[in-house]
Amino acid sequence: MTVRNTYAYENGAHSVYGFRTGRFDFGINTTFIIYRIGETLIDAGPSNQWSTIKRVLKPLDIKTLLITHHHEDHSGNANRIAKLKNLTPYAPLLGRKKLAKGYPTPLLQKLIWGSPQKVETEILPNQLLINADTPSQTKVLAIPTPGHAKDLTCLYLPEQKYLFSGDMYISKSIKYLRSDENLAQLINSLEKLIALDFEILFCPHRGIVEEGKQALQEKRQNLLNLCSESQKLMAQGLTEEDIVIKILGPEDGLAKISKFNISKGNLIRQAMTYKHRD
Ligand SMILES: [Zn+2]
Repeated sequence: MTVRNTYAYENGAHSVYGFRTGRFDFGINTTFIIYRIGETLIDAGPSNQWSTIKRVLKPLDIKTLLITHHHEDHSGNANRIAKLKNLTPYAPLLGRKKLAKGYPTPLLQKLIWGSPQKVETEILPNQLLINADTPSQTKVLAIPTPGHAKDLTCLYLPEQKYLFSGDMYISKSIKYLRSDENLAQLINSLEKLIALDFEILFCPHRGIVEEGKQALQEKRQNLLNLCSESQKLMAQGLTEEDIVIKILGPEDGLAKISKFNISKGNLIRQAMTYKHRD
């Protein structure tokens, strides 16, 4: 396998570079971008892409690996990178146990990403200085953003107005939810990020989004619209299944192949009962 695409956000010593790998190219959800700023990597990429990732990383001076959450596309090679670069990755407290002990993943995800390797990590602190004593030195704030995963933590660089968003963005509108995702938490977390002073969003699936805040605002609005529309139809007496079909169209192959782990119904079910915290 080869690198599918490369990315660069040029900003002197604080430029960010990325490369995309993936076994299948069925769109952005089956490929993954590892980003680098100076000597720091954000996420480790899927384990079945290790030969490509190793080739790219080998000549680079990498001192720090920050993991946004335990999902295998983000953490799969953390153990191998730790060995290759003689470092201990940082991971959110809530994900460290899973990362250390391993966890099962559904067959579909195994096909796309491979199985994650177990890895020992250090707790990602709330605030961290990366690339210390180099021109790329900068402050990183860890922002807990549960919803997609309990441990999902975005990495905010206030001086550069960068946000490494883990899986908080991916797309302006979503049609599916995993059965373990929490829509109310997701919307809260989007609001938490929107309140930050950032501009450039680095999404490991979508790519570099220069109008990053606007993108998150649109995602939030689209989700709120989906909730109010679902609730309006519910009030008219429509069933969950009717509402799914009316708003998102019938369930498709993804629901079947994932045994309804990833489905439109998961999203509509939570949208029907969503209450904004205000
Ligand atoms: Zn994820």
